[in-house]
Amino acid sequence: MSKVKTIDEAINENTYTLDAGITQSILSCWSCRRKFLLCANGWHKPDSQDAKFAFGNCGHECLEHLYNTKFNGSVTDIIDSYFIDDQINKELMTILIDAYIEYYSGDMNNEWFNTEEEFDVMYNKYRLRGKIDGVLKVDNKLWLMEHKFFSRIQEDVLLNSLTFNSQILFYALAAEIIYGQKIEGVIYNIVRKPQYKSIQNFTKALDTDTHHFFPRFVITINDKVMMDYKTMLNEKLSEIDAVLDRFLYPYINEEFCVGKYTCEYLDACASRNLIGFVQNDNIFPELTTNNGR
Ligand code: SF4
Repeated sequence: MSKVKTIDEAINENTYTLDAGITQSILSCWSCRRKFLLCANGWHKPDSQDAKFAFGNCGHECLEHLYNTKFNGSVTDIIDSYFIDDQINKELMTILIDAYIEYYSGDMNNEWFNTEEEFDVMYNKYRLRGKIDGVLKVDNKLWLMEHKFFSRIQEDVLLNSLTFNSQILFYALAAEIIYGQKIEGVIYNIVRKPQYKSIQNFTKALDTDTHHFFPRFVITINDKVMMDYKTMLNEKLSEIDAVLDRFLYPYINEEFCVGKYTCEYLDACASRNLIGFVQNDNIFPELTTNNGR
């Protein structure tokens, strides 16, 4: 049996470099330098996130498939694969996606540039990687579409935070490089996860107020915000570079251990070892074709 690694060993054995590219999900671990190094080296708890995010991941994959097939593809296999022994979520998702198709059938009249496009672009000396949910053209202007599944949202708080959301700006910057054109903004496409245990109650709520389950926010990206983001990204990437080159110490940031979300490495940091964690070679799972489909 292989020896359980300590946190210090795992950090000292870092093999990640920025030459491999950086995605938004790895960047989002930069809240704590230790978290970043663990995350960028593929340390995670097996399947811990899969179960927690199954509904959102399934929904996202369904939308990806629908937009790729111009709303003609079937999502039955996708839903079945996520909810093998979970009949209630299988039905909820099926009803939700059917209602989505009907509600947003007009989306197919838009001029889509691309859906679920994987990008790998150079920004200054850095390689940015990721996948954009959708790019569409409206009145000769380019817009991103971003799908999100939420259980609960506080609309005013979300709307304010979206005006400088780093995920949106990361994708907008990549799209700007790909298309050589300014990105006007993003259509933030929200699907609300039904909080119902009864199918009957859910269908009634869906019929009564369909928009409640599929709200959209249109956020424009102003030039100043994008300029600030680029400055911030440059700073962040050079700091990451310095930590990777060991010019900067990977100090911890305990502000992010517990809060809205509990850090997935909390027990590892507390015990100083990685019991229960595994190391994945693929540190960019979001760039993998979903389930090989
Ligand atoms: S638990 Fe806290 S110190 Fe440990 S990696 Fe997460 S944020 Fe950093």
